[in-house]
Amino acid sequence: MEALKPCPFCGEKSDQVLRIGRLCGVVVCTVCSAEGPCRGTKKEIIAAWNTRIDPQREQLVKALKALVALDDGNEPFAWEYAEEFNAARAALTAAGEQL
Ligand SMILES: [Zn+2]
Repeated sequence: MEALKPCPFCGEKSDQVLRIGRLCGVVVCTVCSAEGPCRGTKKEIIAAWNTRIDPQREQLVKALKALVALDDGNEPFAWEYAEEFNAARAALTAAGEQL
């Protein structure tokens, strides 16, 4: 089973509990009362708690996807910037993003 990451709000490392409800469960930080997303299985609950969104990464991915979307495959534009389009695609793929 995946270990719980520290609370993203207060940084507490070990004082978190799993609260299972009728429909779903959450991880709750007992120090600041932050709750993770409600999910169905224990594995999903922990994975949801451990998921962190990096705003800078999201911004980069959005910018690279916008760049890749400009590639319409038509010359001369697509050919002129083929190297940049390919670099953006490679970076997105390496980051595990869908194209
Ligand atoms: Zn907390």
